[in-house]
Amino acid sequence: ERLHKGLEVKKILSDALNLFKDVLECNDISIAQIDELNNIGVVRESTNVKKGSKFSLDDGLVGFIVRHRNFVIKEDLSKGNLVVFKKGVKVRNLSFIGVPILQEDSVLGVIWCEDHRKEKFSEEDVEALNILASHLSLVWQRAIRHEKIKEQAARDGLTGLYNHRCFQEMLEEEMNKGRELVLILFDIDHFKKVNDTYGHQAGDEVIKFLGRLISQTGIAARYGGEEFAIILTKCSLKKGIDQAVRIKDHLLKSEIKFKQLKIKITVSIGISHYPSDAQTRVELIEKADKALYRAKETGRDKVVVAQTME
Ligand code: GH3
Ligand code: MG
Ligand code: MG
Repeated sequence: ERLHKGLEVKKILSDALNLFKDVLECNDISIAQIDELNNIGVVRESTNVKKGSKFSLDDGLVGFIVRHRNFVIKEDLSKGNLVVFKKGVKVRNLSFIGVPILQEDSVLGVIWCEDHRKEKFSEEDVEALNILASHLSLVWQRAIRHEKIKEQAARDGLTGLYNHRCFQEMLEEEMNKGRELVLILFDIDHFKKVNDTYGHQAGDEVIKFLGRLISQTGIAARYGGEEFAIILTKCSLKKGIDQAVRIKDHLLKSEIKFKQLKIKITVSIGISHYPSDAQTRVELIEKADKALYRAKETGRDKVVVAQTME
């Protein structure tokens, strides 16, 4: 029941770990996610292995469980069996039990327990662990689907950047951390002309190009139709300006290819800085927006910094 309430993978796995540890009364317990295609496992939760550790499925008991889609019990690990890592790793535990977490025909994960006592685990434990694993499989799969949908809901379909709503949430979140940040807002100059001259499809291509260009820069969002926003976290105003100028200058050198066309664009950019320009999200956006408007008003293809406007 407790497991079935969860929707967040991380929380579900850590809950599962704690619950299962009590049920099995063992020293150590781990859950790994399995990627059969690439032949690796990743430790997601564990009491004795570092989280995030990757291991090959070629050797070790966990790999064996994946290949055979079946449980394994070992009474004495000191006799040369290894659990997940390469030979030479010191064996601390003696007993081992592990079962696959199955999803239809593939293996989603493996859950295994270890204990200092010899011959700790029995077939009864396999039964218990299998029941738990089948519940965990359902909940884990549902959480993965849920997280995927949540991720998609946060993204803009054309560019893959964060959408407007998500941008607002993330800006709020970042400002609440109390660390300085820079907000860059920019808008394509005379974009209507691009659409009118080359067609709407060409216009879409331009938007996608800009999306790719800024996708690795800070928290990048499609703010509106042909407007973009970037949040540069832990960033001084000076560094923020440098970044904005880099974007503007890069576009001067760029040609966006669409069919036989080579399209050139410029952008107007407005910049504001937290906390020196504003204390609230709305105010910070307003400042950058005003700066952007000033850039448009005074000739376009330029960067205007909110606090130097007056
Ligand atoms: P300015 O320099 O003042 O920003 O001029 P502009 O032409 O860029 O501004 P305006 O707001 O007049 O026009 C924006 C245009 O962007 C109008 C709209 O059709 C177009 N647009 C918005 N979203 C998309 C999109 O997803 N794809 C395409 N192709 N065009 C879009
Ligand atoms: Mg616009
Ligand atoms: Mg525009």
